[in-house]
Amino acid sequence: MRLKNLLGIRDLDTEDILQILDTAVLMKPIMETKNKRTNYLLGKIMVTLFYEPSTRTRVSFELAAKYLGATTTNISTSASSVVKGETLIDTARTLQAMGVDIVVMRHPMTAAHRLLARHLDAVIINAGDGINEHPTQALLDMFTIREKKGTLKGLKVVIAGDILHSRVARSNIWGLTKLGARVVLAGPATLIPKGIGNMGVEVYHDLRQAAVDADVIMGLRIQLERQKSGLFPSLREYNMLFGIDERVLEVAKEDVLVMHPGPTNRGVEMSSEIIDGENSAIEEQVTNGVAVRMALLYMLTREGVS
Ligand code: ASP
Repeated sequence: MRLKNLLGIRDLDTEDILQILDTAVLMKPIMETKNKRTNYLLGKIMVTLFYEPSTRTRVSFELAAKYLGATTTNISTSASSVVKGETLIDTARTLQAMGVDIVVMRHPMTAAHRLLARHLDAVIINAGDGINEHPTQALLDMFTIREKKGTLKGLKVVIAGDILHSRVARSNIWGLTKLGARVVLAGPATLIPKGIGNMGVEVYHDLRQAAVDADVIMGLRIQLERQKSGLFPSLREYNMLFGIDERVLEVAKEDVLVMHPGPTNRGVEMSSEIIDGENSAIEEQVTNGVAVRMALLYMLTREGVS
């Protein structure tokens, strides 16, 4: 691995991404073995430091580290304690003093991970920084698409919903375009950032139009916790216009893959029939998340150079 830390997909080149996905292919079978344990990371210590809530990302990192034989521990912080630079640096120094090798952090501020990386020798992994990036989510999404479709090159991937506040969308746009997918965004004008077309994507404000011949449709959660009021009239109205349902799937390719990073709001961004339906890859995304994180932990701790 060329990089010491994983701060964003933006920093990776196509080769880096493919290398991570290929390593994850080798890691996935470990999850199906009887002992679910290897010694690749024996003696390594991973800390999860989350300043925002999380279910699957944190558990996924913990399990990935455990499958590889690492020791894991978790620092709980309240989502309301907005941590200032100094406090974060103090935390970093404490971790350093305890001999931590890997810090997986989620933080509401965009620059927080880069700040931490400047003060720590440990490997820093971004588990979500505000609305900026969620690199491991995009890696697991790309892994899932490639596993199902064989390649990402030339695929039409529609990302629908609250693009403005979505770090998942941003990381996926960086990654999918690097791997040659055609990325189409769909959402209300108030939830699509101005100038996003410069990232090499197409923008639609009509989901059914966007979904024509789609190979993949990715729904996003409405990030109510990050929104100021007035960006759309009501959740019901949002669902009528941008909810992913049978009418949307009808115009996509027959084998369209439906994805969602979770947590899903059933009946808002996607109907229950679609979430649980045969095109849905939502549960597989969760499984693949562990494999991708195993690959990353392995690559960053065993092969990393500063
Ligand atoms: N779990 C993802 C994230 O942390 C998506 C979401 O919360 O909607 O960004």
